[in-house]
Amino acid sequence: MEIRIGSGHDTHRLAEGRPLILGGIRIAHPRGLVGHSDADVVLHALTDALLGAVGLGDIGDAYPDTDPQWKDVASERFLRETLAQLQRRGWQTVNADITIFAQEPKLGPVKAAIRNNLARLLQRPTECVNVKAKTGEHVGHIGRGEAIGCHAVVLVTRLAAAATDHVGPRTDS
Ligand code: MG
Repeated sequence: MEIRIGSGHDTHRLAEGRPLILGGIRIAHPRGLVGHSDADVVLHALTDALLGAVGLGDIGDAYPDTDPQWKDVASERFLRETLAQLQRRGWQTVNADITIFAQEPKLGPVKAAIRNNLARLLQRPTECVNVKAKTGEHVGHIGRGEAIGCHAVVLVTRLAAAATDHVGPRTDS
């Protein structure tokens, strides 16, 4: 059995006139995250962690922010497509540990909803997904409320190398 670990990190700027979506959950707040897609830092960090675990680069390679087809798209799509890529190679997610950095809004009331939604998307029991929330202690871009960040760590496993794996230069995407 193979196991791999992956790490992902993302930060987006907060601004008025944008919806705030974290882990696929819409959160009532006067400001939201700015980005080409829906700027969901949680799903972006988690997607990057999954890509990293299996050596598939990063979310910017797969979904460049210069491509108009990803404008305002729900980031759930990035995660779903990435999970499908992993599944095609025989990988399954074991667990995910997510840390969200936000001075405001307070995430205590929404942590469970985010956790449940991530478990649903990863098709794992809730106990296999953890969501932690940290403030920026009023310092730096997070602490001043200018941005929200997220760090994600995932473990993936597979029983044996899948048929889609190649020896030598990779030709698939
Ligand atoms: Mg991002």
